[in-house]
Parts: sequence; C-alpha cells; structure tokens
Amino acid sequence: MDIKSNLTEVEEKIVNACKKAGRDRNEVKLIAVSKTKPVEILQEAYDENIRYFGENKVQELSNKIPKLPSDIKWHFIGHLQRNKAKQVINKIDYLHSLDSLDLAKIIEKERIKPLKTFVEVSINLEESKNGVPYYETKEFVRELLKYQKIELVGLMMMAVKGSLNTGEQFHKLKELRDELEKEFDIKIPYLSMGMSDDYESAIKEGATHIRLGRILYK
Ligand SMILES: *Cc1c(COP(=O)(O)O)cnc(C)c1O
Repeated sequence: MDIKSNLTEVEEKIVNACKKAGRDRNEVKLIAVSKTKPVEILQEAYDENIRYFGENKVQELSNKIPKLPSDIKWHFIGHLQRNKAKQVINKIDYLHSLDSLDLAKIIEKERIKPLKTFVEVSINLEESKNGVPYYETKEFVRELLKYQKIELVGLMMMAVKGSLNTGEQFHKLKELRDELEKEFDIKIPYLSMGMSDDYESAIKEGATHIRLGRILYK
C-alpha cells in the first residue's frame, strides 16, 4: 500500500472528471475515509496534505482525534446512534448522516456552536436502509430549519444497486437540492456523494464532497 501514489492517481482522475464536467477542481473536496485504519496511516495521508478525514464509529474517532494534528477537519459519515452522539458531537466538524429529528434534537441540546450538517437522503427507496426517505425530505428540512445548532450545508447519499443507475441517483439528489433551495429560499451548497467505485460519475453530477476509502489504501 502506497498512499502517496494512490493519492496521485486519484487526484489525476478527479482533475479529469472535473475538466470533463466543466467544473473547477476546487469545487470538489476529497474526504479520506479512514475508518478501521490506524493513526499511522492517517498521519501518512496528512503528510500528503489531506485535511478532511471521514470516520463512522464514535469510539474509534474519539481515540484518534487526540493522536493527530489539530487542524484536521473530522467528518462523521456513518449512522450516528443517538445514545452515543453526545460523546462526539462537539469534536466533529461536519456530520454527513443526519437522518432523524431525534438526532437533531440531541445536537440542538448538546452542541456548543452550529454544526455543519448534511442530511442523508435515501434515493433508492427500495434498497437503502439509511437516510431520510426521498419523499419525506422536504418536510424534514422544513423542521430542521427551526434548529439553531444545525447549519444545513448539504445533502448526502450512498448509491446502491437499484432501479436507477448510480449516475441517475446522483442526479436525483442534485435535483432534490435545487428544489429544496427554491422551496425554502436558502442555499444548500454541498452534495456529499461518490465513493471509490463511483466518484467520477458523482463529480459529473455535481458532487462537492467525495468520500474515498478503499481506493486510497490498495
Ligand atoms: C466506508 C464509507 C465510504 C468509503 O467507501 P469506499 O467504497 O471504501 O470508498 C464512503 N461513505 C461512507 C458513508 C462509508 O461508510
């Protein structure tokens, strides 16, 4: 495993995907998904100028934070269990997986300053278990706008096998974002979508945050 050359390879593909889509490279942020990886590996990525890391377990994240540089931005990307949320809610910089008002209430109560939050959306209703069902997103966001400690910055999704191909799924999230912006007269600037197998297609459809795991550690 050579993170440096993997990152170089991925960077080239990101640049090309942006070029093809007529987008600026700076519009797409790479989050190194570091779940299950030891801190030495994260340090290696850090030394290659990676500053966004994605974790999905409360305990693992709590263990890693004090061992790594303080200018890292921590992205919580997995399902956050309500009973554990309190332990990390003031340590993370971004939450990608808000999927219930119960969790929103805990954030409202425990968080000191507003948290940059993505609402996780279930686009392929028949397949995915996580996220707010596509058709309930509007009502969900309507409620969310009442919360002081939640700064809604984006929508997040995981593509899954289903009736729509991944490109169509990503496109659907972008359209949903556009509809929500219009409905509530707000800006929702970010789209967190695209993983190791499908980030190029996600960039084409407007991803601003791609979450890459496996491809960095092969
Ligand atoms: C693990 C994970 C990723 C990274 O997936 P890869 O296929 O390894 O790139 C991205 N997003 C979430 C929510 C994950 O849990």
